[in-house]
Amino acid sequence: MPDLPNHKRFDCHMHTPLCGHAEGDTIEYVDAASENGISLITFTCHIPMREDRFAQEGIRMRLNDMPRYRKMVEEARVHGESKGVEVLYGIEAEIHPDEEAMVEMEALIQSEPFDFVLGSLHHMLPAFRDWLAANNCTSDAEKIREYFKCLGQGAASGRYHSLSHPDVIRVYSTLEGQFDPVAYEPEIQAFLDVVAQSDVCLEINTSGLIKGDFVVHPDPLIMQWALDRKIPFTIGSDSHTPARVGMHFEEVIEEYRELGLKELHYFRGGQRQTVGI
Ligand SMILES: [Zn+2]
Ligand SMILES: [Zn+2]
Repeated sequence: MPDLPNHKRFDCHMHTPLCGHAEGDTIEYVDAASENGISLITFTCHIPMREDRFAQEGIRMRLNDMPRYRKMVEEARVHGESKGVEVLYGIEAEIHPDEEAMVEMEALIQSEPFDFVLGSLHHMLPAFRDWLAANNCTSDAEKIREYFKCLGQGAASGRYHSLSHPDVIRVYSTLEGQFDPVAYEPEIQAFLDVVAQSDVCLEINTSGLIKGDFVVHPDPLIMQWALDRKIPFTIGSDSHTPARVGMHFEEVIEEYRELGLKELHYFRGGQRQTVGI
């Protein structure tokens, strides 16, 4: 591959069956990318975590799956060369308020030659819900405040290249009521300030359009606030099945171009690559 290919369309968030809730082998994701006009993909399966606090079965890879994951992505990379699809090696890591819960995860990130590390706060997992309960965060306002505070800590940590589906707190019933970003503007703006200062990317995640409340992550208002700060964005379909690679990218890029989005980014070898849209 040349050093700086200007990939017109790329998708930096997809899974493998190793996590237990995705289907299709990595070769099929490459073929789907080729069919869907995507010339670069990054696999980002769910990172292994400690058994005691993060749900495992059907949620994420086990530590002993890692050699197989690396091999599956390598096979896809070789296959991609014949299809005109560059394949990169990434991981979807966890964000959590308690650093101590991420010690093993951090060691794994350091030991693997990942091109790209996504950071996700999966608030619906017991790890975060138990933490909220243990810290007496019972109202929606407290949960939302802590969610964005924790995401901001993730941004400032330097561990992640991009934060995936940043407003996913609005779905999966951690909150009792509706999530209205206007009502939490100070918390969200403070989070975006940290992101801008940390020079970390946020992710446009199109999987929001097919589940939950059927709105892209982040929603247009949060997107506008982020664009006002010139925060850089990656883009991912969060595909758990090959057919969804690159799903809804054209319409979302068009919608967000009208809000002022001018470029998108991907990471190769941990280095940010910028592509005009
Ligand atoms: Zn998943
Ligand atoms: Zn994902």
